[in-house]
Amino acid sequence: MKKKRYVNLTLFVLNCLVLAGLLPAQDSPKNVIVIFADDLGYGDLACFGHPAIATPHLDQMALDGQKWTSFYVAACVCTPSRAALQTGRYPIRNGMCSSRRRVLFPDSKGGLPQAEITIAKMLKTRGYATHAIGKWHLGHLPEYLPTSHGYDSYFGIPYSNDMDAIRNAPKGKAKFWEPRIEYWNVPLMRDEKIIERPANQHTITRRFTEEAVKLIQVNKKEKKPFFIYLAHNLPHVPLFVSNEFTDRSRAGLYGDVIEEIDWSVGTILKTLREENLADDTLVIFTSDNGPWLTFNTHGGSAGLLRDGKGSTWEGGMREPTIFWCPGLVKPGIVREMGSTLDLMPTIASVTDTKLPQNRELDGFDLKPVLLGQTGKSPRDEMFYYHGEEVFAVRKGEFKAHFKTKTSYVGQNEAVVHDPPLLFHLGHDPSEKHDISQQHPEVTSRLAALKKTHEAGISPGENQLIKR
Ligand code: MG
Repeated sequence: MKKKRYVNLTLFVLNCLVLAGLLPAQDSPKNVIVIFADDLGYGDLACFGHPAIATPHLDQMALDGQKWTSFYVAACVCTPSRAALQTGRYPIRNGMCSSRRRVLFPDSKGGLPQAEITIAKMLKTRGYATHAIGKWHLGHLPEYLPTSHGYDSYFGIPYSNDMDAIRNAPKGKAKFWEPRIEYWNVPLMRDEKIIERPANQHTITRRFTEEAVKLIQVNKKEKKPFFIYLAHNLPHVPLFVSNEFTDRSRAGLYGDVIEEIDWSVGTILKTLREENLADDTLVIFTSDNGPWLTFNTHGGSAGLLRDGKGSTWEGGMREPTIFWCPGLVKPGIVREMGSTLDLMPTIASVTDTKLPQNRELDGFDLKPVLLGQTGKSPRDEMFYYHGEEVFAVRKGEFKAHFKTKTSYVGQNEAVVHDPPLLFHLGHDPSEKHDISQQHPEVTSRLAALKKTHEAGISPGENQLIKR
């Protein structure tokens, strides 16, 4: 009797501590939602400094959660960046990057190899319901689709929304300035079946959102922990927006598209609150690469960061990122480094799931930073890949460029830097002032780091050149 009373008292005290926010609630597994925009720039959200685009929902999410200002993707274009997020590995390890064919195309025969373990496949070992919505771009043949990679369901366009352009469409970039759905014959898929072609791109942001809302509600009803990977096809060109958001922003069509994505985020967070799941669901918002600057006002902005999509300057790979979970994440701004490579280990930690053991992983568990247990990120370095090559390395605040290539234009040659260019990203986030002459010892240190990293990589069979 005494023992029982003692146990009850202990449980009561623990509950009080949880309620008082002194201990995290650990009894139920956390749900996870990753919202991944396409080609959204570092400077495209109001909470990351955009003066004209209104993003009230993302701004509030950043206030209630953690805004990360030094968060990186592992590649500056779609396919390899997505492979890295899904697997927690630099894409060179699984053949999902190429210096010749930068991404997968509708005529590609390759895709994410079956031997890879995605976040969804990992979470399946804990009984999670797993759903992919939106852009996949890791292979559109049946063996590479989300449903072959650990996802229970898929609803989306399997590659970029500017692929499958029809012959009669206006030539070159002209078709983008006044885009019409029929110019791009892209399929919309439900699991492994095409259900609409061309996809009505005006309504994809809304329909992807409705799908996410439905899945949250269904899994809540069935009491299943869930993982939703919601990868919007937009704001990648061609830009499309629903009637409701047409001409709404001060920033033209691009701003309208971002404001609809902001509405989508708000709708998802509102659903989590209504379903009483907010404290149990970690939501992560980020983008796959920087803005596509060659599309003028139809491309976004990297803010004060240099360059954009297709380059290893900061604007190509540093992304506006927010972590949100009122029951877990300590609100604040994190200026330490993080990466989409870290999502797999972080999600494993948050959901108490075992990480894949028999392979090299390149990520770190960010949970202690999310909880506010430490202000120091376990990530202190980043390798900036361009295709199969490391073009730049960051360690602490220093970044060395061994090669650079400006933005995503044609086949212009990369410039080799010997000695490498060196920037201090704290003093000079725009990478304007090369300080390699003043700090030769730092450049040699970063060069040695690059060498060690490269020596530890065995490249996987290239998937992007198969056609
Ligand atoms: Mg992209």
